[in-house]
Amino acid sequence: MTIEFLGAARTVTGSMHLLTTDAGNRILLDCGLYQGRREEAYRINSELPFDPAELDAVVLSHAHIDHSGNLPSLVKGSRGERFRGTIHATHATRDLCSIMLPDSAHIQESDADFLRRHDRHAYEPIYTVDHATRVMEHIHGYDYHESFDVTEDVRCTFYDAGHILGSALVVLDVKRSSGQTMRLCFTGDLGRPNRPILRDPEFVGDVDCLICESTYGGRTHQSYPDLQRMLKETIVETMSRGGKLIVPAFAVGRTQDIVYLLNVMFENGELPRLPIYVDSPLATDATEIFRQHPECFNESVATLLKTDPDPFGFTTLHYVRDVEESKALNNRPEPCVIISASGMMEAGRVVHHLMNGIEDSRNTILVVGFQAEHTLGRRIVEHREYVRIWGGEYKLNAQVKTINGLSAHADHGELMAYLKQFNRERMQSIYLVHGEHPAQEPLRDDLVAAGFASVIAPQKFMKATL
Ligand SMILES: [Zn+2]
Ligand SMILES: [Zn+2]
Repeated sequence: MTIEFLGAARTVTGSMHLLTTDAGNRILLDCGLYQGRREEAYRINSELPFDPAELDAVVLSHAHIDHSGNLPSLVKGSRGERFRGTIHATHATRDLCSIMLPDSAHIQESDADFLRRHDRHAYEPIYTVDHATRVMEHIHGYDYHESFDVTEDVRCTFYDAGHILGSALVVLDVKRSSGQTMRLCFTGDLGRPNRPILRDPEFVGDVDCLICESTYGGRTHQSYPDLQRMLKETIVETMSRGGKLIVPAFAVGRTQDIVYLLNVMFENGELPRLPIYVDSPLATDATEIFRQHPECFNESVATLLKTDPDPFGFTTLHYVRDVEESKALNNRPEPCVIISASGMMEAGRVVHHLMNGIEDSRNTILVVGFQAEHTLGRRIVEHREYVRIWGGEYKLNAQVKTINGLSAHADHGELMAYLKQFNRERMQSIYLVHGEHPAQEPLRDDLVAAGFASVIAPQKFMKATL
């Protein structure tokens, strides 16, 4: 049995690992898009490192694009050969994919267009809306804790990862040629305790091998009260300057977390009610899917639902679908909060809000998520004096604030607390993925110090034999 680390190896995006069992079955864990420099991302994403026709199944940890975003390429295939198997996911992940993959396809189509105009090569989109629609026929949804066969030698169970709606820790029981069963866990992205909407990550029990994310190794997130205080201060300061608060946020997860927190602060009278615009059709659709999956909520939301039937809606909150209405937000004189995708500021409507608002020192750009290398978001977080947006040069005069307490990923201490639950004797190997190498080193050191014998941060394309 082997695992090949085909993506998110010493980097945070493009999650993709290939498990080949003793019987020769090939199961892909995640099929994410790599995000980074446009040309490089195009090359990596358009060349799948395997033949999709030879895959037996795909198991998907959650709907974030860096985990699901290259699924449509499987049905696009190559040389007429394409994937014909099943993609296994939770119900909420399946529903989120039904809006996120077509949205991603639109972005692929406009990126290909941009590249074509840029250097006059004939770029075709990595995949189209048609591929994104067709791949949905392959995705099958399951409940948490419902065990099912992926192949005749692999049985799978999803546990709640507490990362985004529907996110799962994937546990695979694999029959070996020796007759024994090996239990393997893939964390996908591991969430954290005490989140606004979701439950805490669930312990899956002991396993023989673990593939674990490491995004925030070596780092500590802000505490929850700190983050609420900072969010409140940032809003009050920006309002007093007469500016706008621009919040680039993942359409799925982060946007709903912020809306939920603001709703609570308004309800408690901690903040004056001011106009909030969720300017992202995707976030608007995603919020609708949140409403359809109350089975994923934690107890405090369940309690709130008894008195407030819609924690994602209130009088000063506007969901903006229309493009003209979105553009009109730039001309509104009064202070407001604009929450808009994408989270790394590479695409979507947030880009035009940044172009319009970045040179005005009254405004604040509030960064609430991880910004990968080579993205516009990373350049803004680094307070570059000038940034390039869609070919134009802009002076960064707006205030930039970072709140990392909203992160959907476990920080170093939370990762260690989760991982220390595993039995050291049974654990043969831990493979650290989905992290930049400087984040992986302190995590590996602490895991070794905690008694785990083999902790490895694989390079891309490394093949581990189990
Ligand atoms: Zn994720
Ligand atoms: Zn991820």
